[in-house]
Amino acid sequence: MRKKLMAANWKMYKTPDDARAFVRDFLPLVAGRDRDEIVLCAPYIDLAATLEAVKGSNIFVGAQNMHWGKEGAFTGEISAAMLLALGISHVIIGHSERRQYFAETDDTVNRKLETALEAGLTPILCVGEVLEEREAGLTDDVLRRQCTRAFSGISAHKAVKLTIAYEPVWAIGTGKTATPQIAASAHAVIRGEAEEAFGAEFAEGLRILYGGSVKPDNAKALMSESEIDGGLVGGASLDAKSFAAIVHY
Ligand code: PEP
Repeated sequence: MRKKLMAANWKMYKTPDDARAFVRDFLPLVAGRDRDEIVLCAPYIDLAATLEAVKGSNIFVGAQNMHWGKEGAFTGEISAAMLLALGISHVIIGHSERRQYFAETDDTVNRKLETALEAGLTPILCVGEVLEEREAGLTDDVLRRQCTRAFSGISAHKAVKLTIAYEPVWAIGTGKTATPQIAASAHAVIRGEAEEAFGAEFAEGLRILYGGSVKPDNAKALMSESEIDGGLVGGASLDAKSFAAIVHY
């Protein structure tokens, strides 16, 4: 049995005060809820406040990006060591918004993934097709390419903490959700790539989350699908009640 991971992606929303207020409202709503792993992926500026606020609970805090280098002249960037020093456990890698707006490529995703794994962080690697690719019947090819390139040079031994989020780009922030069947079929392709790269046993234990307009009213149907091992939730994670309802799917 794979333990599900329910991850909030706050994107570029919330000040540290907003983050503290969210946690204050959220904690009582999910108290004792340890069926799944719960992670709040906050903007860098909110990480310390969020960590402080969740202290003593079963909630983890994640970042939304990191640099692949150890340290250096990379103005505006944050390293894995910096995240770890703060107490961060998870990091989103290769979100489609970073690929789309910040020139993230399969190569930089691979480098970041390797660094995150080496550092002992739990990376949430995002893969997914855009609408034109889906309509052209290219979804499986895109997922295979993104996975193969992301996994390049990484051994099964190193990849132990790898987590993947299937996020069809056409479903992110659009209100359109992949059906559980569409997600399950994409997850099977991703799992197949993981099997090829890391072996059958690894692939069997790999958590593959679904992300793309997950809401309180569709979370149950999605999470009931055996191929779906959790959710990466953007818009609906900004409100404590709404994210708590998703966690309680
Ligand atoms: C995301 O940011 O990863 C995401 C899936 O966003 P939304 O839930 O708003 O579609």
